Amino acid sequence: MTDQPPPGVTPASEAGTKATCAANRTDGQACRSQPRPGRPFCLWHDPEAEDIRAAARVKGGQTATRLRAIRGYQPRLDSTQRLVIYVSRLVYQVMAGTLDQNIARTVIYALMLQKGLIETGDLERRLAIVEARLAENSGRRSVSWPA
Ligand SMILES: [Zn+2]
Repeated sequence: MTDQPPPGVTPASEAGTKATCAANRTDGQACRSQPRPGRPFCLWHDPEAEDIRAAARVKGGQTATRLRAIRGYQPRLDSTQRLVIYVSRLVYQVMAGTLDQNIARTVIYALMLQKGLIETGDLERRLAIVEARLAENSGRRSVSWPA
């Protein structure tokens, strides 16, 4: 028969017999992770994969440091005035080298979006006031824009 499953799909009949890592977890149970290609162990149990794990730990440590720096620091950025104060502080942090430049770039991009949103919101508020005034002045007639 030629009813082969598409690539990447494990037939149900084979799913239960799939190879698992030959190591035991720290709780003594067999590790059920998928072994690395051509190896009896998964990435976390393979003695030959120590360099990969070490690199992952370093990356994880860097991410954790960044997250610690950001956590608990959620400024309200809902007015132009607050944005100005925040940007001033951001510039200082970048100059002092206390803020990662990639984070700074991303934050600056978000601040530019926020600035646009604040301005749009402000414009909508002002327009609503103008429209309300026009409606008051024109009595019961509805406001229409010139064509
Ligand atoms: Zn394993």
